[in-house]
Amino acid sequence: MNICVLRLGHRLVRDDRITTHVGLVARAFGANKIFIANCEQRIKESIDNVSKMWGGDFTVELINDWRSVIKEWKKSGGIIVHLTMYGIHVDEVIEKIKNYKKDLLIIVGAEKVPGEIFKISDFNVAIGHQPHSEVAALAIFLDRFFRGEELKRVFNKYKIRVIPSERGKKLEVIK
Ligand code: SAM
Repeated sequence: MNICVLRLGHRLVRDDRITTHVGLVARAFGANKIFIANCEQRIKESIDNVSKMWGGDFTVELINDWRSVIKEWKKSGGIIVHLTMYGIHVDEVIEKIKNYKKDLLIIVGAEKVPGEIFKISDFNVAIGHQPHSEVAALAIFLDRFFRGEELKRVFNKYKIRVIPSERGKKLEVIK
């Protein structure tokens, strides 16, 4: 199953850090790819650099036309989940979403997303109904979706990995 994230509304410079974190969370919590709309190359480079060091097959695609990404997604039979505090509580819909067993495009915004996103999405899903953050919303959605299994995943092709230890920092570094 292909699980991708679509990041909308990136504000140049101001959102650099948070958009990078959306990408890192998407990767670490089990998504395969992120599409980032209207964003600078250096954000992609910083996420790609993490993947180069820490492994896995996560990809970043910078896009200008998010409507065509959504159109193509729908055309190929995938479903669309939009994370918003105005949606249906995640616990009420997560099993239904999983049972579709279809490719999933998860949309997260920055400030406000265009109103049409609420209509074209198959599910508008709330991670609780308080305003918080796209980073937190994405992490919790993916964690519920994978029931925590994503955090046990071993990334292939790594150059560096953590060796868990009770104290201090242990790393395996592949030369
Ligand atoms: N009022 C906005 C909203 O529609 O959720 C909050 C904007 S928030 C700074 C940026 C993004 O974080 C939103 O577009 C949404 O994707 C995500 N987000 C924030 N709070 C959320 C919540 N409680 N549930 C799901 N997503 C949330």
